Amino acid sequence: MRVNWARTVAHPDAQTFCAELPGAEALRIDRRAKFLLIYLSGEQTLVIHRRMTGNLLIFPPANDGEAWEIVPDMHARVVFLLDDGRRLVFTDPRKFGRVALYPLAELASALSGLGLEPLSEAFTLEAFAKLLAGRARQIKPFLLDQSQVAGIGNIYADEALFRAGIHPLRRADSLTREEVARLHEAIQAVLELGIEHGGTSFSRHQDIWGQAGWNREHLQVYDREDAPCLRCGTPLVRMVIAQRSAHFCPTCQPMAVVGALQTQPIEVAR
Ligand SMILES: [Zn+2]
Repeated sequence: MRVNWARTVAHPDAQTFCAELPGAEALRIDRRAKFLLIYLSGEQTLVIHRRMTGNLLIFPPANDGEAWEIVPDMHARVVFLLDDGRRLVFTDPRKFGRVALYPLAELASALSGLGLEPLSEAFTLEAFAKLLAGRARQIKPFLLDQSQVAGIGNIYADEALFRAGIHPLRRADSLTREEVARLHEAIQAVLELGIEHGGTSFSRHQDIWGQAGWNREHLQVYDREDAPCLRCGTPLVRMVIAQRSAHFCPTCQPMAVVGALQTQPIEVAR
């Protein structure tokens, strides 16, 4: 293997990483929150977080002596040479992505603080309702908080709230029982659709074969500011909530809940 950009290696340092990894066999691949986990022989785990622009791509075998030569505009930060000569390459133009190597025994503490996995059996309606109870926080930032429910990104949070008909500024603890149930269903549905569609590619996201995902074509609200709501025709609104852009339909996702006490009407700022 070769590290071309040392800061991509989050743990341990790049030198130790390069010394310890070669020869390891990949046994099993899993995911926790937004972390890709590759369980290796020797009781080690390779942990990869792609962040904004990171991709893991497979390259065919190179000619002799050219294994590390990846075209410069691929921004190859780490290159793993596989047994059969192919290269597994972590490309990352923006350099926010990270790779790390942890002994299996330290993995749990390295990933501690992550919330419920939304596509796991632990994410029951009851468990979700319990997380929301007593939280004065707005629902949109709550959904993005990885220590509550892990793995929901900005796009999927907007899509889930639209699907559930919930305004992104609603207080988490103001959701009715029915709304909590709708949101619980919506979170799982939008994530499953995203996976089914190979991910949401705005510019960079590719699967291991270099294929972009096509979930973007299926987005209902994200990045559709001023376009008509697909359900009711109202122009969609974009606003910044907790430093992240939020997209929603002011008609389908009302701030006031019909039939419930909602004493804080908030004007929709543009
Ligand atoms: Zn609408």
